[in-house]
Parts: sequence; C-alpha cells; structure tokens
Amino acid sequence: ERRNPAQPEFHQAVREVLETLAPVFAARPEYADPAVALVERLTEPERQIVFRVPWQDDRGRVHVNRGFRVEFNSALGPYKGGLRFHPSVDIGVVKFLGFEQIFKNALTGLGIGGGKGGSDFDPRGRSDAEVMRFCQSFMTELHRHIGEHTDVPAGDIGVGGREIGYLFGQYRRITNRWEAGVLTGKGAGWGGSAIRPQATGYGSVLFAAEMLKVRGESLDGLSAVVSGSGNVALYTIEKLQQLGANPLTCSDSHGYVVDDKGIDLALLKQVKEVERGRVSEYAQRRGTSARYVQGGRVWDVPADVAFPSATQNELDGQDARTLIASGVKAVSEGANMPTTPQAVRLLQQAGVAFGPGKAANAGGVAVSALEMSQNAARIAWSAERVEEELARIMGAIHAVAYETAERYGAPGDYVTGANIAGFERVADAMLAQGVI
Ligand code: NDP
Repeated sequence: ERRNPAQPEFHQAVREVLETLAPVFAARPEYADPAVALVERLTEPERQIVFRVPWQDDRGRVHVNRGFRVEFNSALGPYKGGLRFHPSVDIGVVKFLGFEQIFKNALTGLGIGGGKGGSDFDPRGRSDAEVMRFCQSFMTELHRHIGEHTDVPAGDIGVGGREIGYLFGQYRRITNRWEAGVLTGKGAGWGGSAIRPQATGYGSVLFAAEMLKVRGESLDGLSAVVSGSGNVALYTIEKLQQLGANPLTCSDSHGYVVDDKGIDLALLKQVKEVERGRVSEYAQRRGTSARYVQGGRVWDVPADVAFPSATQNELDGQDARTLIASGVKAVSEGANMPTTPQAVRLLQQAGVAFGPGKAANAGGVAVSALEMSQNAARIAWSAERVEEELARIMGAIHAVAYETAERYGAPGDYVTGANIAGFERVADAMLAQGVI
C-alpha cells in the first residue's frame, strides 16, 4: 500500500486474489520462492500510460480529461481488456480492473494477456458530436500504444458500440491501416463478431445455470434480481428470459425499477439503447406493474437468484444479509468486483452458490478473443456458431473453477477455484519466459 497509495480498489482486488492462493503456494513452493519475486512481478503492471485528453464541447469550450491504459501482463498474449469512461475512473480503478483481467483472461483458456484503460470523461448528457470529438482525441494518443499483436482494447462502462466506432475510425485515419484486430466490440458490418454485445450477460447467466446444475437445479421458473441497465444487464435479462427465469428488476445510478410482471425487455432496450434514457422512464411508460424506487437498494427485492451487473462494490454485507434472508440460491457477478469481500464471505457461509466476476463475466472477453480470431482469418462466424462457442467456454470455465476448488480443498468455492486456476496458468507462463 505504501508503493501504491490511494488505490483502494486495486488493494482490494490484489488482497482478494492473494488470500486465496495459500494452498497453491503450499503445493507448488516455486511460486512463492522470494528469490523469484513472482508475486511482486504479477502485481506491478508491465506498463502504465497516463495522458491528457483535450476536447471541445458543442459550444466551443475546451475540456481536459485524463486518459489511462494499464498494460498489466502479456505472458499469455496481447494485453486485452476494456476501456471505461466514467467520472470515477482513476489509476487505481484501472489497475484493479487490469489485475482482475489477467486471471479472467487466463481462465478462458485463450491466448490473451491482461490490460484495461479508460478516462474520467462522463459521456452522460453529451451529444454524439461531443462523444465523437472526445473519442478522437483519446485515440490520437492511444493509437501509438495499441495494435492487434500488442494491446487490444474493447468496451466497458460508458464505452459501447458508438464509442468503439468513433475510436476505430480515428485509429484507421491516423495509422492508414485497416487493422480490424486492434479493437473488439466493433459493428456487425465492419469486423465485429456476432453475439459480442450479448456475450457478457449471456455468459453470466450460463455460469449461474452451471452452478445450479451441480446442485440438481435449473433457472427455469426462478425469479431474478438484476442490477444495472447497461450492456451487461440488458443481455443478462434477455438470457434469463430465454431460459425460463423471470427477471424482476433493473437499475441505474439514481434508482431501481421493480416490475411485478417481469421486465419488458423490448421497452427497456428502447429506453436505454435507442433513447439513452433512465430506468425511471421505463417505469413511467410500463404501466401499473412497474414502480420506480429512487435511491434504495435493488437487493431489497426478494428473488431466487441475483445478478449484480452495474459496478464495483454495489452489493455490501447488509445487502448480502437481505439476499440470504429472502432465500437467494445463487449470485453471479456480471460486473467486476460488485460484491464486497464481507458480502462474499456471508454468501458463501450461507451456502449460496457464488460465481465471481473473473469466471462468471468472462464470456465478453472470450467472444472478444473469438472476434480477434475471425478478424485474423478475415471471416465472420454465424451467430449460432459463436453462441455455441460461448456456451462451451462458459462450461469449461465453470468446470475448471469447480475442479480446482475441489483439488485444493475448498469444494464449491468458485472464488478460490477461479483465482488458483487463472494464477497457475499465468504463473507457469511467466516462469517459463524468464525474468521479465
Ligand atoms: P454500461 O455503461 O453499459 O452500463 C453500466 C450500468 O451500471 C448502467 O446502468 C449505470 O448506470 C450503472 N452504473 C455505473 N456506475 C455506477 C455507479 N457508480 N453506481 C451505480 N450504478 C452505476 O456498462 P457495462 O454494462 O458494459 O458494464 C457493467 C459492469 O460489467 C462493469 O463492472 C464492467 O466492468 C463489467 N463488465 C463488462 C463487460 C462488457 O463486455 N461490457 C465485460 C465484463 C465485465 P448510470 O447510467 O446511471 O451510470
């Protein structure tokens, strides 16, 4: 903490991983040998880039934001991880996300390293033209650090298809290269993979289904509480409905909606994806079944399964107690680190199946890696094929997390299983590649 002051999210993410690695250090002492300094190397990013992003608003005023790209670990492949545009972004947040990404990407079994980036720019309330000018300025610096064999950014909070389009356009203009593999999450007609927008949410639901299957249960007929109303939340709701579950809620940073009839996904997509509105507008238009609760905790709504899909530390110890009291069976993290360490402990102690983000939300980056493969081969796979691959990968991630937890004496503990399985793969590659 002395080395990285004022980075609480980064400390939280590192502590959470290191706390679960004791059994693997005992079994494989070469990982813990101080002379090799593996943990020190793993917790120090290979490269951190911080840059000025000046841009002009529609009235001609100049604003200055800060841009970040943390290239954390490339032992397994090019750095891979999203860009987040949100006022809360600082170097500590980007480092926490990049650190998590290393293990998540390792767990997918694909050849991708870990990185993350973004800016403290707030896209809310900005016109398309302002967002475009911001993205162009951001890419004007970022382009010299990325490339299909070096570092491949994607979307995250505040960065969706629109922003990826502007970023890709500027990259192409500056470099004079049609290098599709430099960004993922592109549009369907220009190098994007089918199912990429859906992949994180779909994957999180598939992971929950796998956890329930082990217990002889399924999602069919269960009620669900979902937080967020962005990319991950929307497609979590969609897949839940496809599998016969009933998602009752969605939220944003102002409040949540509970809909007794279950969320009307077409209306929610219209409000969020087309009009870029708030969930309160959904409630106004939906009629009597839905009500909007300003502020408040979405976890107060009783349900069988829970999908935190908005942001970090959005589900705390008190929320965990509420969920446990209402009989929740499973929690699957669509967002990154949404559940506080205390809440994770309470849920696990109560016997709730808990899917950590590193495993449960890895479907997005997995399909991003499939997008890179399609770009390299200059082909596009059908939606059916990508969806089959996604289901196969989520099944494999569940299996490796489950089996690793058993092997290291923590049966049913997916946090330990995912951390150790991801760590082993990265650590072995780092040791084999020498002191770098
Ligand atoms: P979006 O920007 O599409 O949506 C984010 C949602 O979370 C919005 O509803 C937003 O509400 C809400 N939110 C954001 N910040 C806060 C906050 N501080 N407090 C309360 N609500 C907040 O992002 P995504 O859906 O892409 O990402 C959601 C989560 O999933 C993040 O943790 C991200 O890292 C993670 N993730 C995303 C992946 C992807 O493929 N997109 C892949 C893996 C993980 P509001 O509009 O009011 O801000």
